[in-house]
Amino acid sequence: MQISIEELTDGVHQINLEGDPNSITISDEEVSFTTPLSIKGTLTVNEDSIILQATLSTQADLECSRCLKPIKVPISGKIAVLYEKSDRVISDPKDISDGDDVEILDYDTKSLGISHRIEELVQLVLPVKPLCSVDCKGLCSICGINFNEATCTCKSARVDPRWDVLQALLKEE
Ligand SMILES: [Zn+2]
Ligand SMILES: [Zn+2]
Repeated sequence: MQISIEELTDGVHQINLEGDPNSITISDEEVSFTTPLSIKGTLTVNEDSIILQATLSTQADLECSRCLKPIKVPISGKIAVLYEKSDRVISDPKDISDGDDVEILDYDTKSLGISHRIEELVQLVLPVKPLCSVDCKGLCSICGINFNEATCTCKSARVDPRWDVLQALLKEE
C-alpha cells in the first residue's frame, strides 16, 4: 500500500484509505482476509518531515482453535511513523530506519510505502488461539461432534479443554 505525497502542501491532511488486505503477506497461512483494510488518520507535512498517524482496521478470517468454526476476528491498531527527508543517497531505505518509527525519505519521494508497517501490525495483533466464544466447548475427540451444538454418547470422559495443560503436566511427572 502506498500513500501518495506528491501533491501535498505543508500542513495537516486527513487520510482515509482502503486497501486490498490480500496485498499484504502474513506468515501465518491459516489466515485470510475478506474485509478491506482501512487506514484512517492524518499526515502532517512539514518542509523536512512527514508524520503519519493512523489507525488500521480490518477483520481476519480465522478458525476457532477449539471447534474449527470459521470466525471473523477484528484487527485494529495504530501506525505512527516519522519520515525524515534527507539528501543522503539511500540505497535501501529499510537499511537506515533503525529506529522503529523513523524512516528516511528522499526529498523527491512521491509516495510512502506502508505495506511492511501493516504486515508488522497485523502479525502483532493476530490472536494465537482464536476462539468463537470464550466458552467454546470444542469438539469430541472421538466422534468429532461439536459440543456447542450437540452432545454425543462417546464413552470418553469429556475433558474441559482448559484442563489440557494440567493433564500434560501430570503426565510429565
Ligand atoms: Zn469454537
Ligand atoms: Zn463423541
